[in-house]
Amino acid sequence: MFGSHMETEKFKLKAYLKRFLSLVGMMSLSTAPIQTSWAETKTESKTFTLHGTLSDVQTGGGIAGCFVVVGEDSVRTDSLGHYEIQLPSHAYEFSVRSWGKDHYEYSTLVYLGEDTELDVPMIPKSTDLKFLKSFFPNDRIIRWEELPVKVFYNRLKAPGGYIHMLERAIMDWEFVSNMDLFEEVETQEEAGLNIRYVPYVKDAESTIDLHIDSNRFLNMTISIKTYYSWYIFGARTYAYKVFAHELGHALGLSHSNYAFQIMASPPEGIWEITAPLGEIIQTVYKLPVGMNLSSYHLK
Ligand SMILES: [Zn+2]
Repeated sequence: MFGSHMETEKFKLKAYLKRFLSLVGMMSLSTAPIQTSWAETKTESKTFTLHGTLSDVQTGGGIAGCFVVVGEDSVRTDSLGHYEIQLPSHAYEFSVRSWGKDHYEYSTLVYLGEDTELDVPMIPKSTDLKFLKSFFPNDRIIRWEELPVKVFYNRLKAPGGYIHMLERAIMDWEFVSNMDLFEEVETQEEAGLNIRYVPYVKDAESTIDLHIDSNRFLNMTISIKTYYSWYIFGARTYAYKVFAHELGHALGLSHSNYAFQIMASPPEGIWEITAPLGEIIQTVYKLPVGMNLSSYHLK
């Protein structure tokens, strides 16, 4: 009897275990769909790498210890100015700040839908950002892809003294920027920039026609007046100023009345190619073509 009782107890235990296991089985069955949907969510929110280098636009060197904020996340640049951050596919506000360093803040929107490289040339505070921006009313860097600009002087058609004034204006732009900006070529076909001498220009001393593609200058023509009455005011000096002004446009600068300089319109004050203009040209040709200047913030 005892033995059989034991058997009964064993049976009861078996039955209990069976029920328990079946309950566990049901539980695991009922949790299975949740696990599946979690796995799907995981696939959708695959992460991508956002990486790049923050460098000083003037020296070209990487900036260490910069604070990079992307959405809610942040990271610091390493000793070479590199940063890397993993994030799910999303649109983010990307901003950069450097502590105790001489650079402007920068921010832009980034849509991360694949691994993305975003390099940021940082403008040192020693550059007058307001002055720089004053030459780019649309806040976008539009310029030649490469320097020097090939120029056809059109020597045979030039009135007396004009070539000398053109060469002086070119020399002065190159002096203030300490760069090779222009190079004379023999034919119109080779040139990116053509100089024309015309008897009449409507409401101006000169005009500039230019073709742009993807924020790059393709070609350009400066038409300068061969105007007799210039001689009354001193044609040589005046032709120099007109060339100096138009060459500023040819390099990518718009009119700016900030400070006394040659790109002012109407001309005021000293009206010269001043040294700060040389720094502007240096910065413009170090910033990438199409760079959005509104991304840099004045403190
Ligand atoms: Zn102008």
